[in-house]
Amino acid sequence: MQKQFYLNGEWVEGQGFIELYSPHTKEVLAQIPQATEEQVKQAIDAAEAARPVMAGLTALERAEILEHLAQLFKDNRQRAAEIISLEGAKPIKFALAEIDRTIETYKFAAEEAKRLTGEMIPMDAAKGGAGRFGYTITQPIGVIGAITPFNFPQNLVAHKVGPAIAAGNTIVLKPASQTPLSALFLAELIAQTNLPKGAFNVVTGSGRVVGDALVTSDKVKMITFTGSPAVGIGIRNKAGLKRVALELGSNAGLIIDRGTNIDDIVAKCVVGAFSNQGQVCISIQRIYVMEEVADEFIEKFVAAAQKLKVGNPLHMETDIAAMIHADEQVRAQQWVEEAAAKGAEVLTGGSITDGVFAPTILHNVESHAKVSCQEVFAPIVSVNRISSIEEGIQAINDSNYGLQAGIFTQDIQTAFAASKKLEVGGVIINDIPTYRVDQMPYGGVKESGTGKEGLKYAIHEMVESKLIVWNQA
Ligand code: NAP
Repeated sequence: MQKQFYLNGEWVEGQGFIELYSPHTKEVLAQIPQATEEQVKQAIDAAEAARPVMAGLTALERAEILEHLAQLFKDNRQRAAEIISLEGAKPIKFALAEIDRTIETYKFAAEEAKRLTGEMIPMDAAKGGAGRFGYTITQPIGVIGAITPFNFPQNLVAHKVGPAIAAGNTIVLKPASQTPLSALFLAELIAQTNLPKGAFNVVTGSGRVVGDALVTSDKVKMITFTGSPAVGIGIRNKAGLKRVALELGSNAGLIIDRGTNIDDIVAKCVVGAFSNQGQVCISIQRIYVMEEVADEFIEKFVAAAQKLKVGNPLHMETDIAAMIHADEQVRAQQWVEEAAAKGAEVLTGGSITDGVFAPTILHNVESHAKVSCQEVFAPIVSVNRISSIEEGIQAINDSNYGLQAGIFTQDIQTAFAASKKLEVGGVIINDIPTYRVDQMPYGGVKESGTGKEGLKYAIHEMVESKLIVWNQA
């Protein structure tokens, strides 16, 4: 079926199309229009023209639009999840969980829309401030270009669309080429709300054409990007003076201290390492476990991973399905082979069976192996033994990335020390680094990005703070 763009509140025909394939069944799901530079400009113009009406909405009106959107996702929960499973091969139970989070994300955005305030400035605290009355107001920044990845095609889009609407901005969304149907479904839902015409637009097509046109347009005031570091760095280099928020990759690490009850944590570690086939920016990629509990952890972790059900992503019992592209599975296998050649032991998995790359656990992995030092973005996790927590902290910090890290420990001093020393955007104590709820500040250091998401934090990046000073003398 040929899909259309959503532009200026209308469905618009494209000219060139590419076929969208299901990563799991390989069936053709739809024909996706590929926007030209000219069509991206039309979307930007529509968003630019909608700015005054969008900026004129009251906080209550913006909140009501977002609440309505959250309700529409509730009403269409199953359909929205099935689209994610079909185009992204995300097992349906995880896709349903993503829609539940999407609903929460839009609800938080609605709440934050009502809390957007400036601040009073104590002008007379300075010698020259007597008789002056100062405060800041927040104003929408304007047109926002949102560029999103394939792995959470609704919730990570919600982390851009929600705050943009809450702040009174207009948006042009470019979804990942593998997950355009979720973005077009979002447009169908948004079309049912009172969002002004032109305030939300979706253009599908390649990163190079659509992404570039957004990044280089003078009318776009901010690019909010979630994706790989290579693309993110390229965007920053081209964006000139426009604001850029980058949510990038990582090779998240977890430390397991002696005294940890292994039975309590194994199931969490399996979810953290293998959900959505490890294609999660804070998927557990490296586990550093203290000698005293290493044998028990490894034995139970491997046994639990081997119980995961591989199958069709649309089946409720499925834990693992195909990765996003066949060539990504080949890459994953090659990286495992490279680690093995450097001395790693493959405890389970490591190969492709019936078109699916198996959940893989490696032991004794050299720190320079790609599966350890690069972002693996596959169901592969490395387990290494450590003889001190300090060794684990240093190993986690020996990385180009720093998004989140986790530590399981019963020792309060160890937890405090780790939380200070780990070079990451967030430290999760007594849980996996994959832990996230949507209102918390979320964003990395080093090559994991700049800027924070989490509704309140993203909204503050999407407004101008303007100073007003009254001379009362
Ligand atoms: P990706 O290849 O970087 O693509 C992300 C988006 O950028 C897609 O829409 C892509 O379009 C677009 N793009 C590609 N080239 C571009 C260019 N030259 N200019 C502008 N846009 C361009 O990432 P992905 O494979 O979809 O997602 C996986 C990555 O996202 C991982 O690194 C993961 O860690 C990261 N991620 C980070 C977070 C976080 O919050 N920190 C969350 C989720 C994912 P096409 O699809 O058309 O190429």
